[in-house]
Amino acid sequence: MTSFAELNALPAEQLENLNELGYLTMTPVQAAALPAILAGKDVRAQAKTGSGKTAAFGLGLLQHIDASQFMTQSLVLCPTRELADQVAKELRRLARYMPNIKVLTLCGGLPFSVQRDSLIHAPHIIVATPGRLLDHLKKETVSLEALQTLVLDEADRMLDMGFAEAIDDVISHAPAKRQTLLFSATWPRAIAAISTRIQHEPLTVEIGTVD
Ligand code: ADP
Ligand code: MG
Repeated sequence: MTSFAELNALPAEQLENLNELGYLTMTPVQAAALPAILAGKDVRAQAKTGSGKTAAFGLGLLQHIDASQFMTQSLVLCPTRELADQVAKELRRLARYMPNIKVLTLCGGLPFSVQRDSLIHAPHIIVATPGRLLDHLKKETVSLEALQTLVLDEADRMLDMGFAEAIDDVISHAPAKRQTLLFSATWPRAIAAISTRIQHEPLTVEIGTVD
């Protein structure tokens, strides 16, 4: 299966949007992960950098968002501000046809007070680094009570950077009943451990060699 239409799950407007973006066929990680993600299952996927992992989880989480509910329904954790900005940009491109979807990045480096003001209306999607998000959760400027989808992007790098404990703390603020997606370019042993801890019967997707 290589065409997005064959998933039988994406609305016509999204198929048109993907065409306009030049996404004519699914990449291997998208083809392997999207059916399970769209069905609401937990997935852990390893595929090298540049293989289209953002759209693999992005197309899934967007389908599960109710735009009329102004509550945070998806959270993507990233290791750095640069990566969070890239993910947010791609999510906005994938959501171009969806009116009123609000995507907000929350990373260190910007004043907390500025971020707090932009959180007065809860965004549908938050893309964040674990430390700064935890500050917001502790000060109750962010609520994850309506969270449906949690994504750990570049999970290997987050563990390398020592974020394991912060990730666990973030998850303690999230509902137990949720979809958890784990994406990584490499698959060190520590990832299997965190997957076991935070995922429920995940589908494992491994594409090609690690980089
Ligand atoms: P990764 O997270 O695996 O490193 P990205 O999600 O950043 O990869 O995607 C890499 C590039 O591939 C981006 O420029 C993105 O726009 C593009 N891309 C993603 N999916 C497709 C697709 N199905 N067809 C064509 N280009 C795609
Ligand atoms: Mg990526």
